[in-house]
Amino acid sequence: MSLKIWINNKLVDEKDAVISVFDHGLLYGDGVFEGIRVYNGKIFKEQEHLVRLYESADAIRLQIALNIEEMSKAMNETVKANGIKQGYIRLIITRGIGTLGLDPFICKDASIIIIADNVQLYPKELYDKGLKVISSSVIRNHPMSLSPQIKSLNYLNNIMAKIEATDSGMLEAIMYNHEGYVAEATGDNIFIVKNGTIFTPPVSSGSLNGITRATVIELSDELGYDVVEQNLTRFDLYTADEVFLTGTAAEVIGIVEIDGRKIGDGAPGEITKELKDQFFKYASGE
Ligand code: PMP
Repeated sequence: MSLKIWINNKLVDEKDAVISVFDHGLLYGDGVFEGIRVYNGKIFKEQEHLVRLYESADAIRLQIALNIEEMSKAMNETVKANGIKQGYIRLIITRGIGTLGLDPFICKDASIIIIADNVQLYPKELYDKGLKVISSSVIRNHPMSLSPQIKSLNYLNNIMAKIEATDSGMLEAIMYNHEGYVAEATGDNIFIVKNGTIFTPPVSSGSLNGITRATVIELSDELGYDVVEQNLTRFDLYTADEVFLTGTAAEVIGIVEIDGRKIGDGAPGEITKELKDQFFKYASGE
């Protein structure tokens, strides 16, 4: 079935949703984006995603012609037009059409693209079995280079780590920061469980301020777990009782092996499973 794509203020057929080869989003990865889930026809954490999008845009001095309310309307229209009840929205803002030079301010209007579709990041069975991952040798972007908190169209840093994972026969890689502390996975935040306490690296360690991460911290709190945001080392991962990832596309998924070391008993742990179930319940409005 052909999708209806929102592009530059209207919905068009997928085949007509095209952008210029002079768009700086294509030429330079100059732009920002969001990935957002739809559960039971409702956009999950819509406001939080929109705020993060506009903050990313501000950080790169990208002006978006629509305000947050107008963007929300456009997203909801796109979801409706595609009949999406359970799915995923990709919201993309590119710098727009410019010249072959870098100058972003030559580009007149940012392009707005909204895609509403389905997504399956990891195979379904791995939510029960857990993921095996490697530590990447690719260091997460230094915050003084390109802040990992900007959800930019430049994902090459993460893609380099993903290539390393794929080359090792794995689906995912853990990225460390310039000081050797754990940052995040290529498209997800990371948590560990040790002796009943939940730990996650602070956002300042070089990760995106994940919206699923924040939700899982809140749910953990409600369930009575202590959540500690502190720097984690590779040793902490290797010796954790449980490790799991969180992200919009990934949701909550257990990790059962890192660099050939088995985590816990080699299956997703009890707290991981509890949080995964709670997350699904919460997201689907139960
Ligand atoms: N880190 C990176 C690099 C990501 O791309 C994502 C996915 N947006 C996340 C973490 C998870 O963030 P969220 O829970 O907001 O999707």
